[in-house]
Amino acid sequence: MRHVIGLDVGGTTMKGAVLDETGRILARGSRETRLHNNLPLLIERMADLIEELQKSVHETVEAVGVGFPGPFDAANGISIHSPNLSLRQVDVRTPLAAAVRLPLAFENDLRTATLGEAVFGAGKGVSHMTFIPIGTGIGMGNIIEGQLLRGAFGLSGELGHITVPGNTAVCNCGKIGCVETVASAAGIVRLAKEGLQRAMEEIPEEAQMLPLVQMAGGDLERLTAQDVAVAVLKGDPIAAETWKEVCEITGWAVSLIVNLFNPQMVVIGGGVSEAGDLLIDPVRRSVKRHVMKAGHENTRIVRASLGPDAGMLGAGVLALRTDIWSGESVTRLVE
Ligand SMILES: [Zn+2]
Repeated sequence: MRHVIGLDVGGTTMKGAVLDETGRILARGSRETRLHNNLPLLIERMADLIEELQKSVHETVEAVGVGFPGPFDAANGISIHSPNLSLRQVDVRTPLAAAVRLPLAFENDLRTATLGEAVFGAGKGVSHMTFIPIGTGIGMGNIIEGQLLRGAFGLSGELGHITVPGNTAVCNCGKIGCVETVASAAGIVRLAKEGLQRAMEEIPEEAQMLPLVQMAGGDLERLTAQDVAVAVLKGDPIAAETWKEVCEITGWAVSLIVNLFNPQMVVIGGGVSEAGDLLIDPVRRSVKRHVMKAGHENTRIVRASLGPDAGMLGAGVLALRTDIWSGESVTRLVE
């Protein structure tokens, strides 16, 4: 049985684990990141965590896979831009290789999470799979015929920045009307706040009695997407209206992917997917309304199963499927 380390580097923490070929975790650990443009300290912490994980098991660790935030040049180990860590055009591979002396494989963190769900998670056994994490934003990772889709410049999967016709909200990317301004945690909160502000102007007394207003405790800035989901269950009409629109647009966005890529399965993950069937059921209905009816309705839409471990486990997959002698990534990552 082979053993590798999977490392998931995030803007606030990095998580790592020693895992075997079946995805079983033998040891895990973490380090704080919260670093701004400090590559040497980031490398030091990564190397330190790798060493700790290596020492915590008897088994020999063969290789390390790393999931890194932001656009990443996987072949050369270069972070093109990582806003969370304030890094731009930096070589991560060379200093890390000098520090740990193990074969290394890199990938953008959304793609490692996609690999995790495809190999050990909800998409196990599926060779055409789309992973859509819905959190602060909305992204997409694609496995096509067992291969991870990267795109010519490593930028494939910008599902969150497709323009929704008629939507006029300004997106963080600078564009207007992106999917992400509606179908993301930030979008859910924005729509709910707009609905509440309208209700407060039109029917101020009734508005005070709404579950959402009471949950916010008088400060709408404190509202979260999770509050909106809970308010839907409490019968809040503003939350229900918001949720309906979010599921409709999410389903519409998923239907584009289903029409274009014909996946066997679409796996929905990220923090918003914690809402479970409250999200998945209406999204399935919306997808059904929007896809072309020539067999696309056979695509299964399911919730992710690995939660926040997907990226770390997928980084392990990357290490397991990388030729440790040449450092070349094998083409077929998913069996
Ligand atoms: Zn955008």
